[in-house]
Amino acid sequence: MNLLLPILAVLIGFGISYFLHRKSTTINLLLAFSGSFLLSVTVLEFLPDIYNSGVSSIGVFILGGILLQIILEYLSGGAEHGHFHLSKEKKSFPFVLFISLSIHAFLEGIPLHGNAHLLYAVIVHKVPIAIIIASFLFNTNLSKLKIAVFLILFALMTPLGSFVQNNTSLLDEISIYLDAIVIGIFLHVSTTILFESSKDHKFNIYKFGIIVFGIVLALVL
Ligand SMILES: [Zn+2]
Ligand SMILES: [Zn+2]
Repeated sequence: MNLLLPILAVLIGFGISYFLHRKSTTINLLLAFSGSFLLSVTVLEFLPDIYNSGVSSIGVFILGGILLQIILEYLSGGAEHGHFHLSKEKKSFPFVLFISLSIHAFLEGIPLHGNAHLLYAVIVHKVPIAIIIASFLFNTNLSKLKIAVFLILFALMTPLGSFVQNNTSLLDEISIYLDAIVIGIFLHVSTTILFESSKDHKFNIYKFGIIVFGIVLALVL
């Protein structure tokens, strides 16, 4: 399940952006919901779990995760939280964007084992991001083949992270620190989504409602 669902989420996102015309208000609401749900699950469940592990210096790694995500967003232009600033004229494969998105997606697959709510939160977070990435790529001059390679490899990164964590012992000794880094990543991504979802800080009842809904859903699950 935790290998298939993230792939499915990304494919649904690609499908939506390919077959439907992108309605930015709907995507923005979906983004706001994904941000508040991801933040809530992180704060309510993931964060306490990590602190209960009793490993000292865990907070340092959470801060490290925030810094890592800031660096990744310099490279990706904020694609992990729904932003895109890549020249539409670009014809060569966008390696820097791809690598920064892949590092982010691989890491977020690591803590998904036996953590159903976090899995749902990552799925909900992936759909709008996949829509935005795909609809952006479809609008560039990149060849269909390059776009397909980009999207397929990107879809496989989160399951790859889960797979390496579950089926190999490569990450065993550092997985608690990687989990802490992922918390930092989630804290930064989700709060950035919420921050950017309120344009000019104008009150929007729908957005506020959907943010509250994300919090309540995480509380009752
Ligand atoms: Zn941004
Ligand atoms: Zn992510």
